Amino acid sequence: EEYSKKESLAPIIPAKTNSPIDNSLNSSLRKKVSLFMGDITTLEIDAIVNAANSSLLGGGGVDGAIHRAAGLHLVGECRTLNGCETGHAKISGAYNLPAKFVIHTVGPRGEKPGLLQQCYKNSLQIMLDKKLRTIAFPCISTGIYGYPVEPASHVAVYEVRKHLEKYPDEVDRVIFCIFLPEDQKVYEGILQSYFPVS
Ligand code: ADP
Repeated sequence: EEYSKKESLAPIIPAKTNSPIDNSLNSSLRKKVSLFMGDITTLEIDAIVNAANSSLLGGGGVDGAIHRAAGLHLVGECRTLNGCETGHAKISGAYNLPAKFVIHTVGPRGEKPGLLQQCYKNSLQIMLDKKLRTIAFPCISTGIYGYPVEPASHVAVYEVRKHLEKYPDEVDRVIFCIFLPEDQKVYEGILQSYFPVS
């Protein structure tokens, strides 16, 4: 289903419920998501997601950090991928990074929820197809591409919630990597509304 702003205001499962079944589902999913404050290139994990541009040949922000840390073999492999459209995702090796793979996705410029949703959805689909169990996302589009972090984080957490409900046994951990200290409070609030800890 399409993400809509209205829908995003309500948690998927109400925070207070009498049903012990809902509560246990909720807490088992909540255990699989976490926030990490810092540099995504330091994470020893199956896949880190890169907020790339459509050339896939490197850029500023997190993209630049990932390419610097991975070394020149990464851009070498990316040249063979023939770019990537907005909302799509492609996987590469991670070279000198401690992660095993990099999933490159191209976020929209500005507030375009449908396209941002596709970035998360397609990245998670690659994770599933490759049988990877842990993944970390940066705050896609919220830097140079100018998507305000509050609505962007709703899209991010909503899409991850949907994926975890659909594939609870295929995923061990999804990390939201927060680089800017001011984004931490926003994500904490949004995680609590989509993965309520009762
Ligand atoms: P976009 O072009 O998609 O907006 P940016 O890289 O400019 O991508 O910004 C996306 C987010 O990544 C921003 O919140 C930015 O602060 C953050 N970021 C920048 N460097 C890193 C890093 N090394 N690790 C994790 N996140 C980072």
